[in-house]
Amino acid sequence: MARTKQTSVRKPAAAPLTTHKTVSQSTSPPQSNKAQTGKKVPRAKAEPASTPRSNKASAATAKSPSQPLDLSDDDRQRLKEWLDKSERPFSVATTALSKKRKRQSGEPQPAQTDLYEDRLNVQYEVKPKNSWDSLRRYKKFTVGSESMAVGQVILVKHDDSEEAKIDVGAQWKGKVLEVRALDSEHVYLRVAWLNRPEDLPGGRKAYHGKNELIPTNQMDIIDAMSVNGSVEVMFWNEKDDESSLMNEEQYFWRQTFDYANTKTFSKLRQICVDSAPQNPDEMIVQCGNKECRKWLHVKCIAEAAVEEAASEKKKSKKAKSNSVSTSTKSSTQSSAIAVAEKNDYRAEVFVMGTPNDPKLVPADTTEIAMFLPDGKKLTKALGCLFCGVEIE
Ligand SMILES: [Zn+2]
Ligand SMILES: [Zn+2]
Repeated sequence: MARTKQTSVRKPAAAPLTTHKTVSQSTSPPQSNKAQTGKKVPRAKAEPASTPRSNKASAATAKSPSQPLDLSDDDRQRLKEWLDKSERPFSVATTALSKKRKRQSGEPQPAQTDLYEDRLNVQYEVKPKNSWDSLRRYKKFTVGSESMAVGQVILVKHDDSEEAKIDVGAQWKGKVLEVRALDSEHVYLRVAWLNRPEDLPGGRKAYHGKNELIPTNQMDIIDAMSVNGSVEVMFWNEKDDESSLMNEEQYFWRQTFDYANTKTFSKLRQICVDSAPQNPDEMIVQCGNKECRKWLHVKCIAEAAVEEAASEKKKSKKAKSNSVSTSTKSSTQSSAIAVAEKNDYRAEVFVMGTPNDPKLVPADTTEIAMFLPDGKKLTKALGCLFCGVEIE
């Protein structure tokens, strides 16, 4: 019996939006152009951190971050005026985590060490430091009717159109690392971005899932008014062969991108004869042969089947070689899990009991349906591409 993962057939991804920012590979500080918008609408307010100020002793024992001293009325007014006239009052620069951090003279540079994977650990510096440090810290903030907290992933509008507020896929996603505010109209968030594959070096690859996000250690300070709600991003463990299926709207991550230091992605598990990662939206099957147990892309089984049929035909008829490339696509009409076509051959792979789509009838056997150029149809068993043993 084939063990299968992620059998749901997914809708095509939304049309790409050109307004989404592209991360540059330059060595300049990671100051992105993820803009702050909506600043003039005073609807954001910051909620106090959970520890009341009158209870300073318990604040200390609860390892609550230290609060700045109260500003004088004059200082407060000056800070407010400066914030009001600054389009982007704060910036944040990141540098590789230094082991000597604490031995350097003066205050140690703060470090962020809870970003999804240790490889994203980073030092950061917010500028101008004095103004940032004079803002009170909060654990939560509220925009409109939604309360959000440090640690949550938020949606960030990149423009003020109604369309931008609805298209969740195109909105930027950032993990809230710090909340600071002067008052309810001046609430700022330090965030680390979770990017779409197409917004990172190398771009979107065939193995990227539709709702795949890649956490980074690229930080920004944004105005809380540009926040458009929160989103849940789950971890998808590709090494866990029993991992549960995700529904098609679920955002997930499995890989990180170290923006601040090495500019590299963490490694993905490679499977199958093409040594490629799994696309979580597409099914893979495992060979049942105890000596093999290899995982295969169903797509690769379909491609191998048409290749074989087309080349056998060529050999027997000595046909002119017409190099039509193999194309694979998942069928939307049938319950085939993968479809491959070459010349006039077409292979459809069915896996018993799938797809789990209420609009489609699940297949009752695991087999390859081969459609020949003369209109005939053959069916054959799925064979492991490594050992040849039949996959049931
Ligand atoms: Zn493969
Ligand atoms: Zn095998």
